[in-house]
Amino acid sequence: MHYHPKSDLLRQRIILVTGAGDGIGREAALTYARFGAQVILLGRTESKLLAVQQEITRAGGLPAQSIVLDLLTATAEDCQQVAGQITQWVPRLDGVLHNAGLLSEIVPVADIKLQDWLDVMQVNVNATFMLTQALLPLLLKSASASLVFTSSSVGREGRSGWGAYAVSKFATEGLMQVLADEYKQTNLRVNCINPGGTRTSMRASAFPDEDSQKLKTPADIMPLYLYLMGDDSRRKTGISFDAQPGRKAGPAE
Ligand code: NDP
Repeated sequence: MHYHPKSDLLRQRIILVTGAGDGIGREAALTYARFGAQVILLGRTESKLLAVQQEITRAGGLPAQSIVLDLLTATAEDCQQVAGQITQWVPRLDGVLHNAGLLSEIVPVADIKLQDWLDVMQVNVNATFMLTQALLPLLLKSASASLVFTSSSVGREGRSGWGAYAVSKFATEGLMQVLADEYKQTNLRVNCINPGGTRTSMRASAFPDEDSQKLKTPADIMPLYLYLMGDDSRRKTGISFDAQPGRKAGPAE
């Protein structure tokens, strides 16, 4: 995507990023802060969140805050507590990037362990739903809020071996579409990003034999992440965007 936002695109915007300690979420948090946002980092590994927080401060960004939450065990009450904590810090949320995700083993459906299936659904679907429900009131206080979910190419077309992960991403697309329709008369827009193959540890576990140097980095795909959080995307809702349009799904060639 060719998008060159102004350097203060996200000034006065308050954005929460899940899975902000590593990979794409880490890069998104750093990028949003660089473009002026006040960022709230959510993730399961405190040390990683603190490192991102420090990096934001070192780069001259607004001080970020962190919330440690393991989405694998998170309950609806935990998500309400997160919303309560955020309400003590800030008056509203202008953006939420649901980015945290769990891949699990790549095996045929016949061989998926029940617990793996349940874990993937818990992190990618149930926790995302519970957190969304808890954060909606804060988003609806914004004059222009953006709710962004993270999908995948296998969330649009099933592929052998991608089992629970693919199904969870189809569910994510569905949740996005339903919410976009429900809030179409409001200031809240709801969209999905399919990052496309990106150089992270999740990608390396899915394609261990791939030459990772042929993949885009998280930084390369940030233009779309910025576009969807800033006012240039104000009228876009209910859309599943590709961060790497035209990229063929599967291993890098
Ligand atoms: P990474 O595995 O590199 O990072 C995932 C982040 O999510 C980490 O910070 C991780 O925390 C966090 N996370 C994982 N499980 C939990 C949990 N139970 N509770 C809280 N946080 C958790 O993945 P990517 O950056 O590659 O992926 C980001 C998103 O993009 C995912 O939704 C993924 O499905 C999607 N995606 C990625 C693609 C790619 O090629 N990379 C392609 C298509 C989609 P911790 O650091 O503590 O482990």
